[in-house]
Amino acid sequence: MKDIVVLGAGYAGLKTVVELQKKLQGQVNITLVNLNSYHYETTSLHEVAAGNVPADKITFPIKDVINPQTTKLIIDRVVSVDPDKKTVQLAKHDPLTYDYCVLALGFVSETFGIKGAKENALPMTTVDQAKQIDQHIRNQMASYRSQADPKKLQIIICGGGFTGIELAGALADARPRYADLAGIQPNQVQISVVDASKRLLPMFNDQLAAYGLDIVQKLGIKIISEALIQEIQPNSVLYKKTGAADDAPLNKLDGNTIIWTTGVSGSPIVGQSGLPEKRGRVMASPHLTAPDHDDLYVAGDVAAVMPAGGKRPYPTTAQIALSMANYIAEDIKARTNGNQRPDAYQYHSMGTVASVGNTRAFGVAGGHAFKAYSASVLKKMIMNHSLLEIGGFKEFFKKGRFDLYH
Ligand code: FAD
Ligand code: NAD
Repeated sequence: MKDIVVLGAGYAGLKTVVELQKKLQGQVNITLVNLNSYHYETTSLHEVAAGNVPADKITFPIKDVINPQTTKLIIDRVVSVDPDKKTVQLAKHDPLTYDYCVLALGFVSETFGIKGAKENALPMTTVDQAKQIDQHIRNQMASYRSQADPKKLQIIICGGGFTGIELAGALADARPRYADLAGIQPNQVQISVVDASKRLLPMFNDQLAAYGLDIVQKLGIKIISEALIQEIQPNSVLYKKTGAADDAPLNKLDGNTIIWTTGVSGSPIVGQSGLPEKRGRVMASPHLTAPDHDDLYVAGDVAAVMPAGGKRPYPTTAQIALSMANYIAEDIKARTNGNQRPDAYQYHSMGTVASVGNTRAFGVAGGHAFKAYSASVLKKMIMNHSLLEIGGFKEFFKKGRFDLYH
């Protein structure tokens, strides 16, 4: 029997296992390795960071979707993969050997080497980090009662991509709770988003981007655009405005909560395994394998897939991670059964919807723009669909978003 090792139980890894269990039950041995015993919906981390949903709403035990007759689950940290020897090093277990390996270890926060970012800003890429942000903000608000330092009420988001904008919306929803803790009015909690670009949300046309930013600004969120962050000091963001003279002093924005969302790179394990990579992402072959290593698949945020005729890889999303997992399971099934492999992987995006808090959203799906209530419902349906795809009906009914009427 072939040994298939899947590394990472996020969207890409866990979906691959779920599909392999269906397609090749009893025909292969699957080993799944993940840091934690739970899967988490990365797409909802900002809601945990804002304290709007508890962490257990966005997580479920991996064992709930594992068939123990086919799949062995190992909770451990992957240290590296040796693609030539076809082995995987783990922190606390013996090395694994494989016939096929699926590398799906996700992403880490990208600081671009900006001075002080690692030390003085809070990243938001795991459940623990999201919980730390929530705790940090609550501490700031609660301590405002005894020491009324206005910096405690200032929340600064570094990077206004999708993650930064969705986080800003979630924090705006949380303002009344923060105000109760601090003994102030909700509008005294200041949320700012600092971004280098002139026009945020470049993936949307002018009209839709303006609509989205208008929602954000009407919530009293301050957007500071054309502001290239150069340094993070304890409780201060230093940035340079586009067009400012080289010797002009940097602008300074003070706040006791600084959250880092300037982008992500693929898992560092990719580079540590000697694979050719750019920011932790491997340019995938037409069958989603690593160059020169056709038995090592790359999936999700560690993989780069170029659209036909395109110049930049598709953005990394949960949607493409799930689609890659489906393809990889089909490819492994064909190879295991000695059949012809499927045609080269192709991605068809269903669209993109960004939320701004629990009841507001905007985006494009099926070629149509969605706004207001319909976009918010669509966003929740997309999230429910991902949950159903990985967790099945059990997790869907337990953890799905059914608060559609608001
Ligand atoms: P992940 O889902 O990150 O899973 C990686 C897994 O590997 C995790 O379980 C992790 O614990 C594990 N792991 C990591 N390192 C190790 C190690 N060394 N050893 C063992 N295990 C390890 N995309 C969308 O399509 N729609 C959205 O609405 C959306 N919203 C988002 C909101 C936020 C706040 C963020 C941060 C991202 C969002 N994205 C969204 C992007 C999306 O979440 C990612 O593209 C997606 O999670 C990638 O899936 P993945 O399986 O590659 O990685
Ligand atoms: P991103 O790369 O999309 O955005 C990062 C932002 O940070 C950019 O606007 C950039 O201009 C800004 N930035 C970078 N360096 C800066 C600096 N030094 N100073 C000031 N600004 C700086 O990253 P993200 O928002 O974390 O998203 C990561 C991935 O996850 C993307 O592929 C995104 O599409 C996906 N995502 C999707 C959704 C959704 O579909 N609703 C939500 C969140 C994230």
